[in-house]
Amino acid sequence: MATKTVAKKSATAKKAASASTKSTANGHSKNSTQPLPFFKSVAQNFDKAARALNMPRGLAEQIKACNAVYYFNFPVRIKGEIQVIEAWRCEHSHHKLPTKGGIRYSEMVDQDEVMALAALMTYKCAIVHVPFGGAKGGIKINPRDYTEEELERITRRYTAELIHKNFIGPAVDVPAPDYGTGEREMAWIADTYLSFHGTHDINALGCVTGKPIAQGGVRGRREATGRGVMFGLRQAVSDKNDMKRLKLTTGLEGKTVIVQGFGNVGYYAAKFLQEQGAVIVAVIEWDGAVYNPKGIDVEELNTYRNQTKSVRNFPKAKTILNGREVLEYECDILLPAALESQITSENAPRIKAKIIAEGANGPVTADAEEILLKKGILIIPDMYLNAGGVTVSYFEWLKNISHVRFGRMEKRFEESTQRRMLDAVESLVGRSFSAHERKLLIRGAGEEDLVNSGLEDTMINAYEEIKKYAADHPQINDLRTAAFASAIDKVSTTYKQLGLFP
Ligand code: GLU
Repeated sequence: MATKTVAKKSATAKKAASASTKSTANGHSKNSTQPLPFFKSVAQNFDKAARALNMPRGLAEQIKACNAVYYFNFPVRIKGEIQVIEAWRCEHSHHKLPTKGGIRYSEMVDQDEVMALAALMTYKCAIVHVPFGGAKGGIKINPRDYTEEELERITRRYTAELIHKNFIGPAVDVPAPDYGTGEREMAWIADTYLSFHGTHDINALGCVTGKPIAQGGVRGRREATGRGVMFGLRQAVSDKNDMKRLKLTTGLEGKTVIVQGFGNVGYYAAKFLQEQGAVIVAVIEWDGAVYNPKGIDVEELNTYRNQTKSVRNFPKAKTILNGREVLEYECDILLPAALESQITSENAPRIKAKIIAEGANGPVTADAEEILLKKGILIIPDMYLNAGGVTVSYFEWLKNISHVRFGRMEKRFEESTQRRMLDAVESLVGRSFSAHERKLLIRGAGEEDLVNSGLEDTMINAYEEIKKYAADHPQINDLRTAAFASAIDKVSTTYKQLGLFP
């Protein structure tokens, strides 16, 4: 296993550590309106699940801890001046390699956040059977403050630092997009990595996922998290008993949805949910919200937002300047798809949604969850619901290390088999299919079809697995604890089988 250098402890980590001393032994914050530090909140959820599992304490501690945190500062020339940029990469668990997780660009990034998000990645990967450990990275900048050229310089320098410390590589640690980053940044990361390793590592392109298609990306990755949210929700609302308890009908048709965040996750989730018949009644963004109880057309709002750079004053809905209050509006499904700690013990008592669907990572704090569960709200946890992104990242990585597009070998063969089958059916029944029917029936699966099918299968199976885990463990009565426990169970099995390295 690679040797990891853990650099100096950051100021933010110290801040997080001292903040956590204000918590009581059971992890609850003394001041109930003060949200828990994020890592502490994840650890609290972990402990709840680990208690239900009754596992050896040492093993639980090893799984919970972050294996390696690399904190570093690097200089970049910005508008003629030298600017020192703060950054992190955290690898939470090496029980499987490579480790995997996004990189976020945000002024809010600190060590506590990166560690919490890396931990969530470990459990997320375990839940959807993606054979990776969890990781996360962050650069403490507001990307809106920089030109494209400056962002490229920052990204390339960040990547070079990761290369020097062995915190990136197709067999080591594979970043991906997260809040504030996208395909563009992933292409810069890939190119920087290739300039160091491209001539001696044939799998070098698998060093990062979420790349543009022309740079080794996979079709369907961009929409994957949002599409996965839709598949997960569709599965959740198909459960007759759960819907009966919530006094809801089964199916997505007619369900009212409030979406927080209209970025890559929120936009695609809203679009796919609307396509399934759900009614998007509100969209909340960082600078305000829009609300229309009759429904908002997602494509129209997206076009408007792309033109004006804001959802505010969208003509077909009411604008509410204080977006956060819209989280408390009446709806069937509340879909937070922005940042963590949006629903805390402060606003949880006023939430009216019947289902909370966590598109974002950690949008509900651990102490808010206690309140929401008492109100009977069904919470579909992040580590399951937004796992579509990493699932399709896994497919992209597989494509990169197998060096062939999905469907390339079999598409035409499948089509000719299906054509022969139709010809035989036609001659047997003495009727011809229409040209349209033939086209539909013959079509072989292309890359995007296969990716979406793999994603759908993954989301359906993982939900059923979590439900079964809960049913088999009567002491577990919420989906997050079931998801955590099932994930911890899988990670601990791997650790037990591996043994401890002497
Ligand atoms: N940033 C995404 C997440 O939090 C995707 C991670 C990945 O694809 O590796 O799940």
